[in-house]
Amino acid sequence: MSETSRIATVVAAATPAATAVAVAVDSVRLGVNVADDVSHGTTRNTTKTMAGIAGGWSVGTGAAITGATVGSMLCPGVGTLIGGIVGGIAGGFVGSSASRFAADKISDKLHHDVEVHKCQKCAKSFTYRKYKSEGDEDLCDDCSE
Ligand SMILES: [Zn+2]
Repeated sequence: MSETSRIATVVAAATPAATAVAVAVDSVRLGVNVADDVSHGTTRNTTKTMAGIAGGWSVGTGAAITGATVGSMLCPGVGTLIGGIVGGIAGGFVGSSASRFAADKISDKLHHDVEVHKCQKCAKSFTYRKYKSEGDEDLCDDCSE
């Protein structure tokens, strides 16, 4: 068996359990955000979480394979598995925060659930992001602190 197909086999063998855990975690995360959004009358948290999950999955898979490859160069077998897990976690983390950041920027550009409010204290107009909410809709960033 070639080195590459051995890596693929190890990654494939470790994937179902890791995938099951990841899917469960993501489902809970998504459920919490949907509930949050419903109570705030917005869809931004859900959009953001979904973007994060999608980004985490795509980047995480690539990073897991990269990690497994690097790991097997350092220590074939155990290194492959550890490299794959570490790569997957690191990649999933970076990928999901990067896409959440991007989703936020895009939502702002599209004025998705963003309203212009007038500050009750200094009368300045400010951008109010519905999804951040929690009672600061009447004050601008400067006055709410
Ligand atoms: Zn103000």
